[in-house]
Amino acid sequence: MDSPTMKPAERVDIAVIGAGPAGAATAIAAARGGATVMVFDKAPYGRDKVCGDGLTPRAVGALNDLGIDIEDAHLVRGLRMIAGETTRELDWPATARFPDHGAVWPRRRLDAALIDAAGEAGAELVWETEALPIMDDRQPDRVIGIQAGGRRILADLVVVAAGAPGKVARMLGADRVENEPFGLAIRTYAESPRHGDRHLEACLTLKDEFGTAVPGYGWMFPAGDGTVNIGVGALSTMKGFKKLNLNKLIAAYRGIVEDPWMLGPNLERPRAWRLPMTAQRRHGHGWLAVGDAAGLINPMNGEGIDYGLESGMLASELFLANPATATNRYDIEVGERFDSFLRTGRRFSFLIGHPWILRSGLKMAVGTQAIAGITLSVMGNLVDSETPGAAGFVLKAADRTLATADPVLRKTRAAA
Ligand SMILES: Cc1cc2nc3c(=O)[nH]c(=O)nc-3n(C[C@H](O)[C@H](O)[C@H](O)COP(=O)(O)OP(=O)(O)OC[C@H]3O[C@@H](n4cnc5c(N)ncnc54)[C@H](O)[C@@H]3O)c2cc1C
Repeated sequence: MDSPTMKPAERVDIAVIGAGPAGAATAIAAARGGATVMVFDKAPYGRDKVCGDGLTPRAVGALNDLGIDIEDAHLVRGLRMIAGETTRELDWPATARFPDHGAVWPRRRLDAALIDAAGEAGAELVWETEALPIMDDRQPDRVIGIQAGGRRILADLVVVAAGAPGKVARMLGADRVENEPFGLAIRTYAESPRHGDRHLEACLTLKDEFGTAVPGYGWMFPAGDGTVNIGVGALSTMKGFKKLNLNKLIAAYRGIVEDPWMLGPNLERPRAWRLPMTAQRRHGHGWLAVGDAAGLINPMNGEGIDYGLESGMLASELFLANPATATNRYDIEVGERFDSFLRTGRRFSFLIGHPWILRSGLKMAVGTQAIAGITLSVMGNLVDSETPGAAGFVLKAADRTLATADPVLRKTRAAA
């Protein structure tokens, strides 16, 4: 029953919590398919999201699938990898699966383009309003809708697209899995005459202020609008992770790239955020989680936008096909698409949490043009265990080897 302070309950097919890429993709696909959709975000329209703004060819492919015009983005041809003295610049390979270009699209503009498309498709958008799931009184693990801003909205499906776990995840028992890796990253912007560069740049040999090798990378992502996105990210498997000072790490990295990129001063204070790489649950009765809320971030490169777009579209397709089976089918299908690859990535992150393995591995990763091509495929999210050719073979072999070595790697990981 509605409380006296609450308005009478409203009803929609899908209520979405969070208007980032994952929530917007869900809303676009569902509303275009004829479902009634409401999207809530606690931030105002036009909010920024701390991000590198980098889109791999796979992410551009997902934007194409959604019919989003990417003219406003800065297109990039490939990746420049730097490890110590070695620099390798490679273009994305042409594949039948993905476009041959990636992009850099500052999140303020990318997210606005996506959520505008959701609105145009007919989704109702509600800003500056926190939404929380309503649990069924008679079946406490069942979600029946959301409450937000004094409104009570009943929904056949609640989609949690709330980003890195917070209050909603805690209510649903969907926090990240303890003992599994996650990431932290920090970024800022600066002006650079090289803003029109057509390659993403990743420095793989990062060190903290004590000289410890950091499993992660520093990036320069040219935005084509006079600015570049500068950032560093690290995996929680590194020695001393809890003491890692991201502000010092980004300042040290800036020191390295300042001259070659002729950087102006930072345009804003560097800001950091979490990269969740697991979730205890990603579905239940009446709800499912997409994007970061489902722990869908690639540990090999920190990429999450593509997974948000793909999982959001998948959730809506399954709901439109059959609302009764959508949450279970989603868990199965999102698992088939991503779980084994992301598990390999998490195992890999334990491997490179050992500094000596990281150092020798990096030399190898860019040692020859051919091996750098495989590194590019992995860093560029162009490969999974289904991929034919050398990169797919290496990934499959790595998966098998890492599966055997995993218990030892976890145990012997340099204690944080
Ligand atoms: C520093 C950094 C760099 C990164 N670089 C890249 C990169 O270059 N490329 C890439 O692909 N990925 C990158 N990522 C990851 C990427 O930012 C995320 O994977 C992506 O934003 C996930 O999208 P999402 O829609 O799941 O969540 P988000 O974009 O986080 O959106 C979640 C939304 O939910 C809202 N919300 C939360 N709780 C509630 C609530 N209770 N009620 C209403 N609204 C709520 C928030 O306000 C927010 O707008 C980076 C991450 C970090 C931290």
